[in-house]
Amino acid sequence: MTFMPPLKSLEELAAHQLTGLQWTVDHAYHGSEHYRAKLDQAGVKPGDIKSLDDLGKLPFTSAEDLRTGYPFPLLSVPMSEVVRIHASSGTTGKRKVLCYSKKDIQDWAHMFARCYEIAGLSKEDRVQIAVGYGVWTAGVGFQLGCENFGALAVPIGPGNLDMQCQFLVDFQPTVMCCTSSMALLLSEEIKRRELSDKHRVKKIIYGSERTSEAMRKRIIEGLGGVELFDIPGLTELYGPGTGLECQVHQGIHYWADYYILEILNPITLEPVPPGELGEMVVTTLCKEAAPLIRYRTRDLTRLLPEPCPCGCLMPRHDRILGRSDDMIIFRAVNIYPGQIDHVLSHSPGIGSEYQIILDNRDDGKDYMTIKVERAEDAPPDDDAKTAQIVAKGVKAEVLVSPQVELVDYGTLPRSDRKSKRVFDHRFE
Ligand code: ZN
Repeated sequence: MTFMPPLKSLEELAAHQLTGLQWTVDHAYHGSEHYRAKLDQAGVKPGDIKSLDDLGKLPFTSAEDLRTGYPFPLLSVPMSEVVRIHASSGTTGKRKVLCYSKKDIQDWAHMFARCYEIAGLSKEDRVQIAVGYGVWTAGVGFQLGCENFGALAVPIGPGNLDMQCQFLVDFQPTVMCCTSSMALLLSEEIKRRELSDKHRVKKIIYGSERTSEAMRKRIIEGLGGVELFDIPGLTELYGPGTGLECQVHQGIHYWADYYILEILNPITLEPVPPGELGEMVVTTLCKEAAPLIRYRTRDLTRLLPEPCPCGCLMPRHDRILGRSDDMIIFRAVNIYPGQIDHVLSHSPGIGSEYQIILDNRDDGKDYMTIKVERAEDAPPDDDAKTAQIVAKGVKAEVLVSPQVELVDYGTLPRSDRKSKRVFDHRFE
């Protein structure tokens, strides 16, 4: 059984997208007062959508729309058709709550099963699901997809390293689903307990946080050459499983038969040229209970326009490289910390920790200093050369020449949570 659609060409995909877009606009217009008011205000009627280019006429939806419509925002079906709700963990303000119809859940299960298929699993695989269970979409999503695919799910949840290690030995799972920090922790624990020969984990599907190339390398080495698959996920867009890194590991295929992805400049809201960094804006094609029309995710990535060597027709985007809210305006250039992270991940001789320091000096100009840790085994003699490579890379990526300072390995602060990396002293 395959969970991939029988698509023969990109033209066929585009025709499918147009039908879905027309259905979505019509459905939202007639099912949701909130959407109808927005579409009326933009002067768009469902019948106006004649081609995919008409997507640009549609108004944007944002987290703000989810807040105004709390607790059941964007609801476009009668409440009796809703079979489940999920909510984001939400750190500020109200949580984002999303409603699902029976078909929405089935569609999500199908997309997620496709992820396991793309990662090369079979029904013989056993999947230890070590992500959070609860009102959020993680645990339930991973399990739903696994069972729909037909592999064996071990729904353990996060944490509890004793139990994780015991299950790895007793149940012999072949796949772990967890965050990348958890994978790293687990790899260290397996070494400490001398279990390297006693487990059979070959693949790790990880999501929900940004992970540098250096960290991926440490996980792969720590677990004796496991294969890593980055899985994107957004509660507003079903949850995790709307795409997956494939087996050639060059970006993430996304399920363009379920949603349209636009990459837009977050300031002008115009499309960026293919391959350039911008904000992900999504429009669903068959989501019933809470359809999304040009929903601004605030996540930044770029399209990878070339066909993938794996042969899969589904388009690709890069890993999530940051949030548009984190944008820095420096010497009139828009910079995202993720761009610098991207350069550092591809520079030799440096570790995974860094800081970006911005200040204003006596000459009235703004300066950028990047403090980065030397790799654990790199000699300080190479500092000048390494700094030069980094500075050149940053200049090419963001058009700013930084001063690069190398510091000893282990001297920059580390934290389990998201580390503060940008220190802006320009307005002090
Ligand atoms: Zn591929």
